[in-house]
Amino acid sequence: MSGARIQRLDPRLANQIAAGEVVERPASVIKEALENSIDAGATRIEVDIEAGGVKLIRLRDNGAGIPAQDMELALDRHATSKIQSIEDLEAVATLGFRGEALASIASVSRLTLTSNATEDSSRGVLARAEGRDMAVSLRPAPHPRGATLEVRDLFYNTPARRKFLRTEKTEFNHVDEVIKRQALARPDVAFVLRHNGRVLRNMPPAGEDLGRRIVSVCGDAFWEQAVPISREAGSLRLFGWVGRPTFSRSQADLQYFFVNGRVIRDKLVTHAVKQAYRDVLFHGRHPAYVLFLELDPAGVDVNVHPTKHEVRFREGREIHNFIFSTLHRSLAELRPGDSPLPEQPASSVEVSRSGQLAPAQQPSMALGNPERGLLAPGESDQQLAALRRLYDAPPRGTVSGQVRERSADNFYEQSGDGEVPPLGFAVAQLHGVYILAENAAGMVVVDMHAAHERITYERLKRMRDDAGIKTQPLLVPLTLSVSAREVEVAVEMADTLAALGLLLGAAGEEQLVVRELPVVLVGSEVEALIRSVLEDLVAYGTSDRIKAHEDEILATMACHGAVRANRRLTVPEMNALLRDMEQTERADQCNHGRPTWVQLGMGDLDKLFLRGR
Ligand code: ADP
Ligand code: MG
Repeated sequence: MSGARIQRLDPRLANQIAAGEVVERPASVIKEALENSIDAGATRIEVDIEAGGVKLIRLRDNGAGIPAQDMELALDRHATSKIQSIEDLEAVATLGFRGEALASIASVSRLTLTSNATEDSSRGVLARAEGRDMAVSLRPAPHPRGATLEVRDLFYNTPARRKFLRTEKTEFNHVDEVIKRQALARPDVAFVLRHNGRVLRNMPPAGEDLGRRIVSVCGDAFWEQAVPISREAGSLRLFGWVGRPTFSRSQADLQYFFVNGRVIRDKLVTHAVKQAYRDVLFHGRHPAYVLFLELDPAGVDVNVHPTKHEVRFREGREIHNFIFSTLHRSLAELRPGDSPLPEQPASSVEVSRSGQLAPAQQPSMALGNPERGLLAPGESDQQLAALRRLYDAPPRGTVSGQVRERSADNFYEQSGDGEVPPLGFAVAQLHGVYILAENAAGMVVVDMHAAHERITYERLKRMRDDAGIKTQPLLVPLTLSVSAREVEVAVEMADTLAALGLLLGAAGEEQLVVRELPVVLVGSEVEALIRSVLEDLVAYGTSDRIKAHEDEILATMACHGAVRANRRLTVPEMNALLRDMEQTERADQCNHGRPTWVQLGMGDLDKLFLRGR
């Protein structure tokens, strides 16, 4: 093209080029429109979309509206009511300020904006930008105070962009995510989302009860497992909720971080949070959080990226430390006593215990820390109380009577030669969760799932590094319905998976067949196991990353291979597990970093019974 003359781009083309940065998919249109509604002070925002937003996006708000004389400008690029000077940008309090969203969207869709800034609903105005010059045509249109943005046929005139759109379902999920973020940022605003005429979200203003909004966006499980955080230092304030380590996820899909009300995805922030969780989360698992950081607007540059997803902190180090130390301390202070342990009657023990354990990947927190010894003098009374209740509980089905009676003899019989193994001999199983064992110092309590998971994981790793993981064919190959993407990844990674002991192949476009499993995993729930592994594969994305994350995949497998809570073990089985633990590296910690067993010395027991020695 050398030698070509320089020409000024026509306005539509200039806007289309700008749109490349801001408008990637329907969700980006909705993000911009939501921001405009919030900036206009709306308290209720209704979003209607059709076909994932590709066919239609309609967003209606009850904000301040646009004065009739400004309607033309609203669709113009670089026209904004929000800032006037570069100094304003330093302290910008609105979500928008670049004045290019509407012009960009209008250049790649059929857009109309209807608005009214008065209380007289007959005085609304409808604006539309047309032609290469994007001249704005205006006509009266009744509309209550507020604004309605309608965007049809996104990318109809930019086929290259249109090609990048995914399935209706995927596009819808992106839209939903954008709405969830804004709903968390502004619990005082009502949001409604309809897709193809069906109401899929209806969130009334949360009022004082922020929890209600958190639940509707993040779900009950998160709310139950969330710990409130709040800290202020100088002009910095961090508050919100972080998930207990027990609520970790295989994907980073429940992480919301807001800076001065703006949702951001920032490396520095992600890093600080990750560091804070490092000790308590097995690598490869992701924490869940909803956090709000507030600071002087002058301390953060929001004009780094057209979509404003990234920010630049002027005092990056300080912010990193503040986030890290706040979370690190809060996580370190977590005690089993403040988790949803039974508050009163012993009869509630079983329910809350198993409730806490229900999801397979959440082995319960063990009581106390083996390094410090359990219940050092002056340690949390709550912990003590919880423990008392546990032992006060009347014997029930899960504590085998037969074993209880025999236990004492058992101990001395087995230790006849004076050699008692460190973790002692099993006495009983408690509520299908803990193994109680008797050793030289007193009593040992073992979290059986957590311990078994660690053993299985270490064993798989060792086998992989030595002679290879021994596999066993399934009697009947298992056929699974999965997504096309999952089939794709599984086939692509078949060799890697085979090295990990999983032999599977495609059985159709959306079907996999599982043929062989590692011997140590025989007896586990194969389907759940495979689904979790697939989830991991898809999350890691590229084959390089999957290779780099082999250990995590083994960990996922181990978790499914480990004995489930509520499974009755025989005394020999329990003893075998104890002996395995003694042989296994890092057996004191489960794969998620929590203790797998605690020692309760005779002295500790005496204290429980207020018995002087
Ligand atoms: P920006 O938000 O960066 O100012 P936009 O292109 O998104 O740029 O919007 C241009 C202008 O149109 C805004 O500055 C605002 O004055 C007006 N506007 C857009 N949407 C609304 C709305 N829903 N309610 C009131 N005013 C709006
Ligand atoms: Mg805007």
